[in-house]
Amino acid sequence: MSGLVIFGTRPEAIKLAPVIAGLRTAGSAVNFEVVCTGQHAEIMTQTLKAFDIEIDENLYLMQPNQTPIEVVRRTIEGLSMRFDELSLDWVLVQGDTATAFAGAEFGYLSGAAVMHLEAGLRTHDINEPWPEEGFRQEIARLATLHLAPYPSARRNLIDEGINAENIHVIGNSGLDSQQLMLRRADEGDNNWLPDDDFILVTLHRRENLGERLEKTCQQLVSLLSEYPGLRIFWPIHPNPKVRRVAYQFFGALTDRVTLCEPLDYPKFLSAQKAAVFVVSDSGGVQEEAASMGTRVAIVREKTERPDAVELGLTRIVGADAALLSETVADFLANPVEPQIVEKWCSLQGNGEAGSKAAAVIVEHIEGIRLSVGAPE
Ligand code: UDP
Repeated sequence: MSGLVIFGTRPEAIKLAPVIAGLRTAGSAVNFEVVCTGQHAEIMTQTLKAFDIEIDENLYLMQPNQTPIEVVRRTIEGLSMRFDELSLDWVLVQGDTATAFAGAEFGYLSGAAVMHLEAGLRTHDINEPWPEEGFRQEIARLATLHLAPYPSARRNLIDEGINAENIHVIGNSGLDSQQLMLRRADEGDNNWLPDDDFILVTLHRRENLGERLEKTCQQLVSLLSEYPGLRIFWPIHPNPKVRRVAYQFFGALTDRVTLCEPLDYPKFLSAQKAAVFVVSDSGGVQEEAASMGTRVAIVREKTERPDAVELGLTRIVGADAALLSETVADFLANPVEPQIVEKWCSLQGNGEAGSKAAAVIVEHIEGIRLSVGAPE
């Protein structure tokens, strides 16, 4: 029985790392190759290094200004050119990227079982986040095993008619990675962080580029005047459309704003932990910062992680200046209660998702083996 674990971006590598480790511990019982499509290039190298993930095949697909269509086309082409002679039994994909979608399509069309890690996250709006909501809904149609991070994700899948027997709530493997890397980060020194209290900013989503990004930067400028004791710390995504706007608004404000290159994962975790609060449109950051008790103002109209919102750890502000200002005032006036953070971590499986996912995957592979009558 042979399989592929396919990923291409930083968040996929972070969330698959504990599962790959779990599958490797399962030994020769699970025969698989780790394939990186290279959808992200430079920020991926940092992440692979942080986790010591050894990849068997890198398709080096990234090109400047690539569109989702190009990534999907090149990923399917690249995978089929490299793996068409392999008799493939299963593929594992994570999340909602173009790589995950193309990997699932490739697996399905190769006759392999498709397994989906981080299944069931939904905003129920295929335009937000675009194209990720569409990708994850499509992957759910093809998958035979759905590894859901929290009970609410399981409910979403059931509502879409997915057979409950094929859904397993294993927790969020991102929390496993986070805990491992935080221990490492805490051992190092943090004297590279800003000395002042700071707002951590990360913005990169496609639907926020252009006018919405400029509006948000304008709001951040207003926050700086409203709170003279706060500085902005923004490790900027490599997308040139983000960089141009960030430098246009903040390049000259060096006394109040620190702009830098993306941080490696352990350092970025330290920054989330140290921040007074975070302003972000990232999915993973909503989970991570909240797991460390740092609140997040979400610069999106909808989120697929409503549990953290219900717990009061994150709040949607969209592009609404008044709402951001009100949210920040509330974040600063009301410290996070430790039991709320514990509840959020417990909803995410307390850092034990990787081994649980690996155990369920091994069982699923065994089921496939028995159904096709393959030798052990
Ligand atoms: N991240 C990082 N360095 C940075 C910014 C983000 O390591 O400078 C990590 C972050 O900790 C999280 C992941 O990248 O685990 C989030 O990725 P991104 O925001 O690109 O994607 P999303 O989570 O929205 O899919």
